[in-house]
Amino acid sequence: MIMPATLLSTSLQSLVNRARGRLRYRGGLCVNCLAPNATDGLCQGCREDLPANRWHCHTCALPLPFASAGQRCGECLRNPPPFVRSIAPWRYQFPVDRMISRYKYHGQTAFARPLLRLFCAQLDELMADSPTPDVIIPAPMDGQRQRRRGFNQAEDIAREAGRATGVPVNTDLVLRTRAVNTQRGLSRRERMANLAGVFSARTDIPARVAIVDDVVTTGATTRQLARVLREAGAQEIQVWALARTP
Ligand SMILES: [Zn+2]
Ligand SMILES: [Zn+2]
Repeated sequence: MIMPATLLSTSLQSLVNRARGRLRYRGGLCVNCLAPNATDGLCQGCREDLPANRWHCHTCALPLPFASAGQRCGECLRNPPPFVRSIAPWRYQFPVDRMISRYKYHGQTAFARPLLRLFCAQLDELMADSPTPDVIIPAPMDGQRQRRRGFNQAEDIAREAGRATGVPVNTDLVLRTRAVNTQRGLSRRERMANLAGVFSARTDIPARVAIVDDVVTTGATTRQLARVLREAGAQEIQVWALARTP
């Protein structure tokens, strides 16, 4: 059972945190509803209730309201992105949004762990119809933000995915040269201008690349990163993320 975030009091949260430390995720409490006997932090009910991104655009993973023959969204048909496909098993909505933001903005790894484990367990199957990438590249964060946060969540996800698939992870192939002002409220053209020059890639990029990020939102940043990687030699780019915004 999933409870609204508001029902989870601070004291209950600290109970989860304490139990987490003691029980090492086996038979511990569910991070969503505090039920006992969770596996990797989620009980069976919450696991089944996660908002699966069942129908989605094959190219950018945008959630679609129903299964359609072509499985491409309008934006990808009008402006094909510089990547061939995206994998994002969940929609960025409750409780996935909360689980990811707890981790990303509060460093509470336990909230993301169930998603990471499930994501990696599904990767082989999800990758079945695509060639295995030569390298996994986490979406880079600008240095100042990473220093403040202490970690890059995309890198954590990339490392888990690398362990699960045996594909090497490389964090040195592309850099983020500066922070980006908010993309909210900007037109497509303005978003692209806002992102110009934000990534810089080395020249020896392998042919097949998987870009890893925690959430794909408008897709503009992912497009820009993929474009830079293509210019630097990548030929076939996939995007792997935990979640996609509807
Ligand atoms: Zn639960
Ligand atoms: Zn699309």
